[in-house]
Amino acid sequence: MLEKWVVEPVRVPLIRRRCHVCASDGFRTSGKFRVNANHKLIDVWLLALCTACGETTKLTVMERMNVRSVRPELLDRLHDNDLRLAAELLQDPVVRRRNRIALDWDDAWRLDTGGSDHLDDEVIDVSVRFAARIPVRPTRLIAEGCGLSRAEVEKLITDGKLVSAVRLSGKLSGDFTFTLKR
Ligand SMILES: [Zn+2]
Repeated sequence: MLEKWVVEPVRVPLIRRRCHVCASDGFRTSGKFRVNANHKLIDVWLLALCTACGETTKLTVMERMNVRSVRPELLDRLHDNDLRLAAELLQDPVVRRRNRIALDWDDAWRLDTGGSDHLDDEVIDVSVRFAARIPVRPTRLIAEGCGLSRAEVEKLITDGKLVSAVRLSGKLSGDFTFTLKR
């Protein structure tokens, strides 16, 4: 029996960047963009607010791009302050590198196990799909999904009863499967 779990975002992650006003390092975006078109060139920023003092920071999305090279539907979404677009852009490593930001997914995702009632079976195979590239510890997911403690999960790995083609220690942000034998 193959169980299907999904790791999915429930909100836009916190943006890690030092605030130059209050020295806090968490910004939250509501998906507000600033678009500056000048003749043929366009600049786009995503605005985010410091969670401590409310100071605004601007994240560069496009810099001096030729307007003609930007798809019209993308322009529409920018003008509509599309929060889903903001979430997609934040997941783009190029955008993160350019702005020297990291994302904090704490409390911004959930695990959907589909209300599984096979968890007590002797052997279960589970495929875990990531709806967004959210870095999570597989041991934490498995503990949560199977109703075990992290220590119990670690012991199952050590005993060879919990196996996967991927390394279950550390963090993952891409799909994987595992088998649990009791
Ligand atoms: Zn601040």
